[in-house]
Order: sequence, then C-alpha cells, then structure tokens
Amino acid sequence: MPSTTEKIAVIGAGVMGLGAAAELSRRGFDVEVFERADIGNSEGGSGGIGRIFRTTYPEPEAVRSLIEAGRLWDELERTLGLKLRSAVSGLDYGDDVITAGFAEALNREEVQFRFLTDDETAERWPSLRFSGRVLEQADGALIHSERVLPALCEYLEQRSALINRSTTVDRIVQVEAGVELVVNGNPRRFDRVVVCAGAGTNALCDGILDLPAVRITQEFTLSFDLEAEAEPFPVACDYRKPSIHGDSYFWLPSEPGRMKLGVFASGVEAALGPPQCPAALADELYSYAAATFAANGELMNSELTPCTYDFSPDEWFFADATAGARVVAVGGFSGHGYKFAPSVAIAIAEIIDSDGLKMPSGLPWTPSLALV
Ligand SMILES: Cc1cc2nc3c(=O)[nH]c(=O)nc-3n(C[C@H](O)[C@H](O)[C@H](O)COP(=O)(O)OP(=O)(O)OC[C@H]3O[C@@H](n4cnc5c(N)ncnc54)[C@H](O)[C@@H]3O)c2cc1C
Repeated sequence: MPSTTEKIAVIGAGVMGLGAAAELSRRGFDVEVFERADIGNSEGGSGGIGRIFRTTYPEPEAVRSLIEAGRLWDELERTLGLKLRSAVSGLDYGDDVITAGFAEALNREEVQFRFLTDDETAERWPSLRFSGRVLEQADGALIHSERVLPALCEYLEQRSALINRSTTVDRIVQVEAGVELVVNGNPRRFDRVVVCAGAGTNALCDGILDLPAVRITQEFTLSFDLEAEAEPFPVACDYRKPSIHGDSYFWLPSEPGRMKLGVFASGVEAALGPPQCPAALADELYSYAAATFAANGELMNSELTPCTYDFSPDEWFFADATAGARVVAVGGFSGHGYKFAPSVAIAIAEIIDSDGLKMPSGLPWTPSLALV
C-alpha cells in the first residue's frame, strides 16, 4: 500500500484502463483517467454489448489463469455491487483437432467439460446445427460488457477519481521523479502514468519503452433480434474456417433478445477516417447469421458495429515499465483480452506497488517478451 498519496494518470478508459484505475484507487492511489473519446467508443475495443468468458485455450497455463480471472470477476462483482457475468452454456465446435487440444488442456488443469452427443445438442438447441464434436465447458459465461465500463466509472467517481472524457493525451515526457503529460497542449504533472490506450499505446510510449509492434485491425460484429420464443442460446466459438480472411466465428446472445456474432481476426489494417465494413465481410456475417439463426431467412433489426483489435506478434499481452515504474504500459490484447481484464488490473497494480520489480509472467503475458 502506498505510504503517501501518489498521483497516477491512467491513459485510456477501455476495460483495461478503467479496471486498472479502479484497482489502483482501491489500493489508495490518487487516480485520474484520460479518455480521448467517450466511454465505450467504437474506435476502441471495449464498447458494445456482451463478451464471451471461456476457459477453452490449448495452453494449460492460459486455462489456469482464466480460472483465476473467473474468481477475480466474482470479486469485482462484489466490489461494484452489480452482476457482471451470467453463467451460460459455453460451446466450442467445428474443428475436432482444435476441440481435442482444448480437452487436453482442460484435463491437465482438472477443469470440467463434456463432449455433447448429437441427441443432447438436438434436444437442447433444436434450431441449431453443429459441425464436428461439441465441447461444453463448465465455466462458460456471458460478460455483460455494457454494464462493466459504466459501473467502473461510477465506482471511480464515487471515490473522487477524475475521469476526463474527450481529452486526448498528446505526449508523455519523463521528468525528474515523475512524468508530465501534454494534454490538449497543456502540461500536467503526475508521479506515474499507466498507458492502457489500446491502439494508441505504442505511439504514446515511442522513445520511452521498446514495446512489441502491434497491428491494429478494423473489425465488425453483426447483431440482430432473436425470435421472442427462441431457446436460451449458448455462447459459442465455431472453428470452421470462414470463406474470407479470418480464424473462426464467435456468437453470443447479448442484451435481452439480441444475438451478436463476428469472424475472429477478419480485419484489415485500420485506416484513418470513418470505419467501412468490407462488402465480403458483411456478406459473410449476414449469410452465416441467416443460415445459423434464421433458416436462411431475414434477420430482424440487424446492425453492423465497428471496433478495433490490437494484435501483438504472438497474440498474447505485453506489460512493460520504465525504471521504478514511472511509466507502465500494457497492450496487445489481440481481440481476446476482455475475459482477463480483472487479472490485468491486478497485474498493473502489482507493478506499481512493487516499483516495477514484480512484472507479470506466464500466459496470458507474452512469452516472447520474456526472451528479450
Ligand atoms: C467486437 C469485439 C468482440 C470481442 N469479444 C471478446 C470476447 O468475447 N471475449 C474476450 O475476452 N475479449 C473479446 N474482445 C477483446 C476485448 O474486448 C479487448 O481485448 C479489450 O476490450 C481491449 O481493451 P483495452 O482497454 O485494452 O482497449 P480499448 O477498449 O481500445 O481502450 C483504449 C482506450 O484508449 C483511448 N485512447 C487511445 N489513445 C488515447 C490518447 N492518446 N489519449 C486518451 N485516450 C486514448 C481510446 O479512445 C480507447 O477508448 C472483443 C473485442 C471486440 C472489438
């Protein structure tokens, strides 16, 4: 715990920045957040309805850290006094080699799961058709992401932490025993700064930290209304290869009565200007959604929503800090970071509390950085 009230700036009010700010405030630091747009904006990665929580990864270490992340989500729920996750059936299917890899990792970590029989899937989700073996994990959940950012803001504001919306940090300057932020052309002095600026992190830390190169991609999800009498759907990852660039499909029932789906890693490099969904991606999303949920008929109230991913070279996350942890940066959440957010918040707070001596290691933190 800090002996004096250090002033810490947090740049970026996505789930990582707000989560870190809340944890730092809880530990007694005086926190001020800077966000260049509004909270949950569509240029970042944390906006919109719903995220999947799953423990299915092929690396046992990632499975282990997700079990811990699940525990931390429960703790965050208690801190914020709000339900942030709902347990739902979590399915992985579409590629038997991939699901066998998940099964092996889950077995190694003694995490419960089952492969469902065709009769079971037909009985539980009569309108859905699955391909390959269907793995159901015991810890599947829907994260109510649309509640998370407002709840973190409320928590921070109740603790008198300042959240500066629509306020861009132009530059970070290291000064003796602290940092100076150039904010809208004006210098602001802090003891430390935590950079959680998603697509903006590398540029802000240029010349200060040698961060892994990230590739910023422009992604889109499709959401639409479900029939009122639709069965309770699971959250799912379908590992059949999309017919366009991309790894897999994901879909999740989100706010009451909506379904949201996407192609994982479909994105092209993000460009300046208003986001434009490529026609091939829009076609792929609409035809997958219509075939899976509407018997190839019309989708109701469908909407494409833009967002960005920040891909690190190995798709795991990085954390770095200057000497004494005056400047701390995290990033590379690579389109799958939300489920780990409470663990990231703790990791950042530990870096600060230890003056940079306690850097996170082991997945989800990138092993490639450890080799440097
Ligand atoms: C459509 C979609 C679906 C996803 N689904 C899942 C899922 O199911 N499960 C899962 O675990 N993960 C999922 N993810 C990934 C997850 O949501 C992201 O990894 C995570 O939200 C990234 O959060 P962040 O805080 O690092 O970045 P962001 O949310 O991008 O936050 C960074 C913020 O910094 C601000 N900023 C940037 N530069 C500056 C500056 N100079 N000054 C001030 N502010 C600045 C930006 O405006 C932005 O708001 C998904 C992502 C997307 C986009």
